[in-house]
Amino acid sequence: MADFLRTFILISRFAVKWMSFVMMCLSWAVGISNTAQRKENYLPDYNVYHNLSKIYSEISEIAERNPFYMQLDNTYVSRHGRSQLLLHISNFSDSHEPNENGQPQWTPSKVRILFSFGEHAREFFPIESLFHLLRNLTRGIHAVRDSPEELFSRKLLSKVDLFIIVMLNPDGREYIEKTHNYCWRGTSTGVDVNRNFNWNYGGEGSASETGSEELRGPQPFSEPECFVLLDITKKYSFDAFVSFHSGIREIYVPFADSESRRLKRKPTNIELMMKLAKKMAEITEPHFVYGQAFVVNQYTADGTIFDYMAGIKKGIPTDQSSKLEISGSSSPSHLGASSADVIR
Ligand SMILES: [Zn+2]
Repeated sequence: MADFLRTFILISRFAVKWMSFVMMCLSWAVGISNTAQRKENYLPDYNVYHNLSKIYSEISEIAERNPFYMQLDNTYVSRHGRSQLLLHISNFSDSHEPNENGQPQWTPSKVRILFSFGEHAREFFPIESLFHLLRNLTRGIHAVRDSPEELFSRKLLSKVDLFIIVMLNPDGREYIEKTHNYCWRGTSTGVDVNRNFNWNYGGEGSASETGSEELRGPQPFSEPECFVLLDITKKYSFDAFVSFHSGIREIYVPFADSESRRLKRKPTNIELMMKLAKKMAEITEPHFVYGQAFVVNQYTADGTIFDYMAGIKKGIPTDQSSKLEISGSSSPSHLGASSADVIR
């Protein structure tokens, strides 16, 4: 378990730490209006941010450059047929590296982690943090053998089996690029995919009114975008699941829903998850707040992805697996329109 913790923290720190840095540097690029709710003052600068087509092309290029470490699966698609870019990262060639006596051996099972990005269309920061993570992971792959960079990449990639959903909701991203409605966070039908999962679905921490940001949809999993998460967790057991968001500098441990708040419900392995959240919070500056979502937040959120993973899929990601949700923002005191996006 100690090895799992070390590996997980190493992988997560790039994404988390970079989020806090990127957000400080780039917050100017999407000017958030403090006075007009749900109205942006400025357009994002696509010389700074990746737009959707650049996300597709760059992820494909990175995967093509590193065929022994990355496999890109384009079979999972949105309602309008756009790839959700499932990226599988590992050292695929080291499953039977010789041991120190030169005898062949099977590598002990790797830490299997699932990351989810791009759930909410308007949250640009997490994707940028993902590119930073990928740059760091792959930096040493083509470096001189046994150089510090090469050792870092080889060792880390030999320890993890990392699956990344790069863009869970590409139709939403396409919508905001087309309409310039940079407050849009739903799918193409306006449903919040992070209220569309079957965990306390339909509770007060979601909405039924069309036009609401927290529209839950007509029934659980009404959005085809959910399928990738359902399917991949059927195929594999995961040691950890992390959903990346932006809007506030906080790290959430399940649960977030209204019934769990009433019951003061805790996931079975809450101690481990709190330990992970604490470690991740400590590497950010200033430190992210962390804790159970319904404790940290004033409001509840029903039908979220990470609650579903923790409450329903707990035997598939193993019962001891960790599920976290991480949100980043430009500053802890940020009070702009998007600062309401805590879990969101
Ligand atoms: Zn979000």
